[in-house]
Amino acid sequence: MINERIIERIEYCLRKDKRISFLVGAGISAESGIPTFRGKDGYWISGSKNYKAQEIGTKRFFNIASHEVLKFYLYRKSITQFAEPNKSHLMLKEIEDILDDKFALISQNVDSLHKKAGNSEEKTFLIHGDHDFMRCGDECSSELYPFPKDIELKNRKKDQLTEEEIKILKCPKCGEDLRPHVLWFDEYYNEKFFKKDTVLRISKETGILFILGTSGETTLPQVIAKNVLAKSGMVVEINIADSYFSELLKNKKNGIIIRSESSPFLTELKKEIEKQVVTLYNKS
Ligand SMILES: [Zn+2]
Repeated sequence: MINERIIERIEYCLRKDKRISFLVGAGISAESGIPTFRGKDGYWISGSKNYKAQEIGTKRFFNIASHEVLKFYLYRKSITQFAEPNKSHLMLKEIEDILDDKFALISQNVDSLHKKAGNSEEKTFLIHGDHDFMRCGDECSSELYPFPKDIELKNRKKDQLTEEEIKILKCPKCGEDLRPHVLWFDEYYNEKFFKKDTVLRISKETGILFILGTSGETTLPQVIAKNVLAKSGMVVEINIADSYFSELLKNKKNGIIIRSESSPFLTELKKEIEKQVVTLYNKS
């Protein structure tokens, strides 16, 4: 799986102090039992109503039915809360330990599994937000509030939201409903919440970008991949199916497409990087 071109490129990045970056999506967390947003489970039934995730995951919908959105969020949170990192997460953590400052992890996942695996906050960029935090639904400030401890997540039912919970889920400053700290379908990336400028800068310093478990349907990941290519970096897509990136990388000199699950690839990649770092260290 790790071919000669990838091996040479990693050597180059290590010698020239270029970043080795990872862009990951929901496919990475699927092995931990977290349903993807756009997959077959990407809908939400509440009472007699049936919503698409793309409909309920919007600011527009929150403005008219915040409690429906909170039910949806709390139910998803009840799944992510008890999920454990899988082999892919653990490999990403080991790769960070080996690469240190040359490593960057850009993740679309809001499920806290990178944190649980031990990846550092400084090198993990959560471009779609983080389920562990909430913020004012009325944006009276940009403060992030940790998810309230008093909300019971065990055995949560889809339609559950008590009066007591509604009281807890209020902004401490203005009393409006809190909202999950995530990027909704009708919102834009920014630096303040989603580190947009930072990851764009990182993309320009990246010598090789590995894209895993994402179909690339949002704009920032697309721009990140294009930036890497524009700066003569290499982009490697690891995915079991065709995606936006497969199309982008097809016929590109610096593009490589590998049809594989994430974890076997990352396991091999970790061994290769480790070997090279040891060799380089012994030479210098
Ligand atoms: Zn507020």
